[in-house]
Amino acid sequence: GREWHLLSRPVGWPKPEDFDLVEAEVRQPGPGEVLVRNVYLSVDPYMRGRMSAAKSYAAPYDLNAPMTGGAVGEVVASNAEGVEPGDHLLHSDGWREYATLEAGKAAKVDPDAAPLSTYLGVLGMTGLTAYAGLLRVASFKEGDAVFVSGAAGAVGSQVGQIAKLKGASRVIGSAGSDEKVELLKKEYGFDAAFNYKAGPVREQLKEAAPDGVDVYFDNVGGDHLEAAVGRLNLGGRIAVCGMISGYNDTEPAPGPRNLMRLIATRGRIEGFLVGDHYDLRPQFVEEVGSWVRSGELKYRETVVEGLENTLEAFLGVLRGDNTGKMIVKL
Ligand code: NDP
Repeated sequence: GREWHLLSRPVGWPKPEDFDLVEAEVRQPGPGEVLVRNVYLSVDPYMRGRMSAAKSYAAPYDLNAPMTGGAVGEVVASNAEGVEPGDHLLHSDGWREYATLEAGKAAKVDPDAAPLSTYLGVLGMTGLTAYAGLLRVASFKEGDAVFVSGAAGAVGSQVGQIAKLKGASRVIGSAGSDEKVELLKKEYGFDAAFNYKAGPVREQLKEAAPDGVDVYFDNVGGDHLEAAVGRLNLGGRIAVCGMISGYNDTEPAPGPRNLMRLIATRGRIEGFLVGDHYDLRPQFVEEVGSWVRSGELKYRETVVEGLENTLEAFLGVLRGDNTGKMIVKL
């Protein structure tokens, strides 16, 4: 089977030479293990961090070894109790065709309950990130005005819709194209949205949020964060989920210049990791699963076909090629 290796640690934007698609032997499962043929792979912004050597919450990828990431696959051989060929598993050995892994490190998923790709997106890690970040970290409450950046992406599109479904007074989103902005307003029910490439974020946010912002869900950082601090209402909360505008920077960008506003507003900024919030998963699956089934919560996926296109799909996420969750279909 083929698998993606990291050859060198990218500086700035990752280049094709930093990676290689390698043919590797498929190992038969040992005791407690399963052999899985991957069907869907996840490519996510956090993987950029794992390509660097810097110490972080997720260990750096090893060089000259298969990269890892979320995946859904079909069991083709099992040496583990309770797992049969034909079962589908959610696991972390993505970026490859075949994976031999401990059954205990994977979770069974039901292809009849929901499309398999959704276990990587709307009902998976990015969905839980939106749910936990908005409801727990940002302490969202009915009547809040919510601003979310990266709003046409996997996490952001779900943040805005959950806020709406839970009674936000106003939901504002930003995204990187006019098509995405239209989608936010027409399909996802955002009250206002703007293209951050069309003008200064500060001015566009002021117009979109005349009465200020109670919650800012940050996927982007940079000028978005500064603009949100500038519009923060009394008791406002900022959940820092990601800062994708800086992931390829070789030097950290200057921080918001207006943090003094946090004093008068008694504002709070809090970063979080979805990994700390899996206790919410049952509640999330029940509530969001029912909104998805009823059609109240909509989602898009951008599906790229072929393992050989996984790197391009990943780079596409950093460029903004995706609308909703970026998925690779093998
Ligand atoms: P998305 O589906 O949102 O894809 C990333 C999007 O970021 C792109 O589509 C692009 O859309 C946008 N983007 C890229 N560069 C910039 C830029 N310079 N300025 C503004 N927007 C930009 O990815 P996810 O939903 O998976 O992730 C969203 C964020 O959440 C990321 O920051 C990610 O790191 C973070 N995250 C954090 C987690 C946690 O536990 N804390 C867990 C999961 C995700 P556009 O066309 O609008 O520019």
